[in-house]
Amino acid sequence: MTTARVYLDYNASAPLLPAARDAMIAVLDEPGNPSSVHADGRHVRAIIEKARDQIAELLNAKPSEIVFTSGATESNAWILRSGWDTVFVAGVEHASVIQALTAAKVRMVGLPVTADGLVTPDALNSAISSAGATGRALLSVQAANNETGVVQDVAALADVAHEAGLFVHSDAVQAVGRLEIDFNALGADFVSISAHKFGGPKGVGALVIRDGLNPAPLMAGGGQERRRRGGTENVAAIAGFGVAAEAALRGLDKANLIAAKRDALERDAISRLSGTSVIGSQAPRLCNTSCLAVPGLLSEAMVIKLDLANVSVSSGSACSSGKVGTSHVLAAMGVPPPMANSAIRISIGHATTDNEIAVFLNAWSALAPRVGKAA
Ligand code: PMP
Repeated sequence: MTTARVYLDYNASAPLLPAARDAMIAVLDEPGNPSSVHADGRHVRAIIEKARDQIAELLNAKPSEIVFTSGATESNAWILRSGWDTVFVAGVEHASVIQALTAAKVRMVGLPVTADGLVTPDALNSAISSAGATGRALLSVQAANNETGVVQDVAALADVAHEAGLFVHSDAVQAVGRLEIDFNALGADFVSISAHKFGGPKGVGALVIRDGLNPAPLMAGGGQERRRRGGTENVAAIAGFGVAAEAALRGLDKANLIAAKRDALERDAISRLSGTSVIGSQAPRLCNTSCLAVPGLLSEAMVIKLDLANVSVSSGSACSSGKVGTSHVLAAMGVPPPMANSAIRISIGHATTDNEIAVFLNAWSALAPRVGKAA
């Protein structure tokens, strides 16, 4: 008998929505290149433009402000490597932000965060005053953190930054589809998004660029995307992205239900395993994310034990190239190492059932350190 897997890792990648898959499959047999002028080309061009409209509607942006990319890593690299003199950035940002800035050898000014991982307008103000923002300067601040779910007040930070003459970029990858992201209300000039975090396919995303701004292309070529991003468009993925965006807009009113499930999960996790705490719990958080720490246990071992119990979650530790290290996000928040090294992330979504949460909680209870040894 095989037991069904319980997938609680939506922040890594959410399941593909059946409607997005259907839209993608329907496109795969289309021969046309969207840049061709003939009817076959025009047909696939129309598919791309429909998706652009769907994504613009989700974000309350103009269709002309959406530029398709291969995902948020590319969107972040594009905007962060486009010739800034100074970039203000906190240590809790995603690796694709930090690495893009490091590669571009930009002058980075670090922003402190509170114990819950928040950048405050006061902290930004002081950093700008003491560092000086000469030349082309940018604030890059995420809308929500991938490990803790903590939501930044991007609008308030954008006000401070604009007042000082900075441009503003926001990595909104984890926020889209989980809370309302209105491009105008957010106040950012550039926003990175990715389809696979809210039911679209992996490997497609967008950079939303305020009308009138024109960052030089990261990849030039055949003049696609109004000369902003060269390369034949991934039409099937873009079609799936559009359908997922439409579903995300309809599903936003389910955020409260998801939050109620997550809150119940946290209450039960705390009562079943003594010493459990929730990182970031004092700050506004995404409805679906829970970063649980149990000092005394090790996150990697917890992830493996849960995996053996058929439950997929992530550890906060970076585990690239086989090297386990403390999460840079939790380190930037000043979380003490014994707690950071015992942190795991549970991220749920539209399809998560009460039964799946019950399976997780049973496996969670079994993580308790054994007291005493068998003779
Ligand atoms: N930013 C954040 C906050 C993310 O969580 C991720 C995905 N883990 C990315 C950027 C990169 O997105 P993509 O997978 O589309 O390259």
